[in-house]
Amino acid sequence: MINYTERIALLMQDVVSRTPSLSFIDLSEVLVFGRFGRAGTEGPFATCHCLTLPASEPGYYFWRDRTTGELTRRSEWFVTKSPVVRIGHRSIKYLISFVLPRYCDQLLERSRKAELYPNMPNWVAKLDTIVHELYHIDPLETGLRRVVRADGSDSPRTHGPHFYEEVARMVKAYLATDPNPDLVRFLEYDFAGLNEHYGGVVATTFRNFPSFPQRYQEALDLPADSMVKVEPLKPLNQPVTYTEDDLHIRQFTESCARRLTRKGQHRAA
Ligand SMILES: [Zn+2]
Repeated sequence: MINYTERIALLMQDVVSRTPSLSFIDLSEVLVFGRFGRAGTEGPFATCHCLTLPASEPGYYFWRDRTTGELTRRSEWFVTKSPVVRIGHRSIKYLISFVLPRYCDQLLERSRKAELYPNMPNWVAKLDTIVHELYHIDPLETGLRRVVRADGSDSPRTHGPHFYEEVARMVKAYLATDPNPDLVRFLEYDFAGLNEHYGGVVATTFRNFPSFPQRYQEALDLPADSMVKVEPLKPLNQPVTYTEDDLHIRQFTESCARRLTRKGQHRAA
């Protein structure tokens, strides 16, 4: 079977080493993992998740009476924080998720990327996605290049036309360096083709699949200076620290992803 996230990580290594404007990226601080998403359905192909965003300013939720507008309840004070992901001695700064099998079936033709890559094969759309996510990594280490949403993921509004053009320029420059065809060949297969050729598709996932490390709220012990009822925050339903023991290899099919190996047996690149 093909370990799809491992192949992407290997290809990223080659892309970064041949692309001057991405050469600042230390891929030992980047973890690639798989999320499930059916082919042909709406949604992203991949996402860059930043783990280095600082904790938010303290805040709270509040509820108002619909008719009087009066404050009726509020939550405890909290800050929103990034979880810690540590693989061995490495602290992970960015997670890049690929949505499988949707990503594998991505086509250039009839997509908005088509005009950026005239007369180029369909699989270039997948390479474009890989470079796109790497380009989100901010050289200034302030999070994601440009604006981010509160949960640390990128918003579609963060991409101006120049973002897509710059990605396409890097993709073409990378291909012009004549990379080893063995590194990119897996992108030529759609999901059915991958299964046929490799006998299955596996990927790194997190133990709490379909969840993964996400920003969370931590209650603060601050006095609530109002007379209204204070609601406690919901208890945390996700870990705040992840290690290599939280990485599980799962096999992806058209309809689901299931655990394949014992925990800790595989480590993501
Ligand atoms: Zn993006």
